[in-house]
Amino acid sequence: ARPMIYVITPTYTRPVQKAELTRLMNTFRQVPRFHWLLVEDSAQKTALVHGFLARCGLLHTHLNVATARRFKRTGLPRATEQRNEGLRWLRTQREHLEPGVVYFADDDNTYSLELFEEVRSVRKVGVWPVGLAGGRRYERPVVEDGRVVTWYTGWRADRPFATDMAGFAVNLQVILDSPRAMFKRRGSQPGMQESDFLKQITTLSELEPKASNCTKVFVWHTRTEKAILINDSIEHEESIYIEA
Ligand code: UDP
Ligand code: MN
Repeated sequence: ARPMIYVITPTYTRPVQKAELTRLMNTFRQVPRFHWLLVEDSAQKTALVHGFLARCGLLHTHLNVATARRFKRTGLPRATEQRNEGLRWLRTQREHLEPGVVYFADDDNTYSLELFEEVRSVRKVGVWPVGLAGGRRYERPVVEDGRVVTWYTGWRADRPFATDMAGFAVNLQVILDSPRAMFKRRGSQPGMQESDFLKQITTLSELEPKASNCTKVFVWHTRTEKAILINDSIEHEESIYIEA
């Protein structure tokens, strides 16, 4: 059987959440052998996400862990604990899981279907370009003779792995063989989540360049504008509850 794709998506409650999850679901439903690990940044699982997953038509696992208040500040990395919760779940389920590849998919990015076939073929750690990242139209691994030699990026080129979270995937076996590999809060500088994680499991020369030697953009680091609900006042609220 083809390898499974395990996608870990951190998500949190805000007005655009259901719209974001709907866009993801419409893409993910077209990907065969797909398992969605949706990790809520909350102390309790919400009814909205629970109901959404029940109707999404995808093999899924609903997880949650709340980010500590002190880490909810601009400039600090987001979703560290949620990604780790996904990794923790995979490791506890190792006896029951089919071979596959793990990918970290934030809830606001844009994913092409081509991306997932690149993900599926990753033997250890695969990398590829990410559109709209690093302050450029795209950020990408630079490949020479089939090996990644450096990174094309407009931002902090000193990062050991100058990639966005959307720019790599890791074989499940690597995650299981390195049981301590995790995303870090302590000692992690802004924008270093990816590098701090990847250096625990691989080296630059071991990376597998995907997407035609990293010349194709199959995923974009899009960001959704915050919904401004200035006309949503208590006086005008409806007397029935409508989940939106
Ligand atoms: N996220 C989260 N809790 C938060 C903020 C963000 O779980 O308090 C999730 C969010 O849903 C997304 C990921 O973390 O899947 C990255 O967040 P965001 O897209 O805001 O970061 P950016 O793309 O701006 O770096
Ligand atoms: Mn984002």
